[in-house]
Amino acid sequence: MFDTLSDRLTSVLQNLRGRGRLSEADIDATAREIRIALLEADVALPVVRTFIANVKERAKGAEVSGALNPAQQVVKIVNEELVGILGGETRRLNLAKTPPTVIMLAGLQGSGKTTLAGKLARHLLTQGHTPILVACDLQRPNAVTQLQVVGERAGVTTFAPEPGNGVGDPVDVARRSIEEAKRAQHDVVIVDTAGRLGVDEEMMRQAADIREAVQPDEVLFVVDAMIGQDAVTTAEAFRDGVGFTGVVLTKLDGDARGGAALSVREVTGQPILFASNGEKLEDFDAFHPDRMASRILGMGDVLTLIEQAEQAFDQEQAEAAAAKIGTGELTLEDFLEQMLAVRKMGPIANLLGMLPGAGQMKDQLAAVDDKHLDRLQAIIRGMTPAERTDPKIINASRRLRIAKGSGVAVREVNDLVNRFYEARKMMQQMAGRFGL
Ligand code: GDP
Repeated sequence: MFDTLSDRLTSVLQNLRGRGRLSEADIDATAREIRIALLEADVALPVVRTFIANVKERAKGAEVSGALNPAQQVVKIVNEELVGILGGETRRLNLAKTPPTVIMLAGLQGSGKTTLAGKLARHLLTQGHTPILVACDLQRPNAVTQLQVVGERAGVTTFAPEPGNGVGDPVDVARRSIEEAKRAQHDVVIVDTAGRLGVDEEMMRQAADIREAVQPDEVLFVVDAMIGQDAVTTAEAFRDGVGFTGVVLTKLDGDARGGAALSVREVTGQPILFASNGEKLEDFDAFHPDRMASRILGMGDVLTLIEQAEQAFDQEQAEAAAAKIGTGELTLEDFLEQMLAVRKMGPIANLLGMLPGAGQMKDQLAAVDDKHLDRLQAIIRGMTPAERTDPKIINASRRLRIAKGSGVAVREVNDLVNRFYEARKMMQQMAGRFGL
């Protein structure tokens, strides 16, 4: 699922890597590519428009952040907007204060309602609930038997009209099921309703009547993610005809594009509660917008890195250091502080390993040694404040003292001081070029 979208977004965002500053034109170009990626993923046009407008506005208005480079900032914005259109916070099932909780399922025939009834029942069972399934799809031959089979597999009771009485009245069955649940102490009632191949008035009316009769705590609209854009039209019809409080996406395992998932919440205003991704009872999970977004971006690790960088970063310290770079006043003290800030983010190799494309850098990564950083830190710590501010005063005897104090060879102290001067010169030149 989401494979193509994921690939496209990842490559669009990776193109930004290594860029110093993003101009408006850069942001516009990136937004255009994201727009194409979303449209190709079959995301509904109004959703794409809002998404792109938000990303653009935020990217252009973003403060220059010390913690994140521009590419990381755009990744962060795109991720947050994705989480937003997927619904923001995880929405849990509403349970009634006085049982039984009534959950009604609605959706087109073939959307996976019956299968979902079993999955939901099993899910609730594992959480200590005592669900009962109710067969209110009395139109489709075999629907009742199918629900009974699903119920048996899930290990729950199914309430159904007695066979032989002709086609029963689904509203009556629904009403009686609540009485039965109270009598037999089932704390959740899951009502499966009839679906049609297309939206029709009679089906809507029947569903609305059942809703009226049993006053469900949740009406879950079950939608097959593989129908793409049609999911949105169907959702709108159900919203207007029956009304629902939440969405369940099914067949996400067969949906490579993900447009339905990305559109349905934004278009209907109702949250996605669960996602189904297979025919087996256990192929089912609560829906978490944040996890889904990082899966779509295929950048879970990068997002973690961004979070860590933001936490470890000390804006004031970095600004002070940046100001000194320009004037060539950077001291070993600043150097140490910067190094410590980076260290707070975890072992350096892990950190680099999180960056996309780090696979090719394996050899270089192997050479980055935390121990080496430890030694540099020890050397700088072994210096007096005056030496750190003005390393020029470090003469032969001071070098010997520092080396002894920090347990390294004199050569290593020399190396550090020389490299510091080189780095400072280089940074000053770069700062000049970027007008810092
Ligand atoms: P209903 O008509 O809405 O009750 O739909 P069913 O529960 O009968 O499901 C229709 C078909 O979709 C059945 O063959 C199910 O096995 C299949 N199905 C349901 N959910 C999923 C899912 O998440 N993934 C896949 N691949 N198939 C599913």
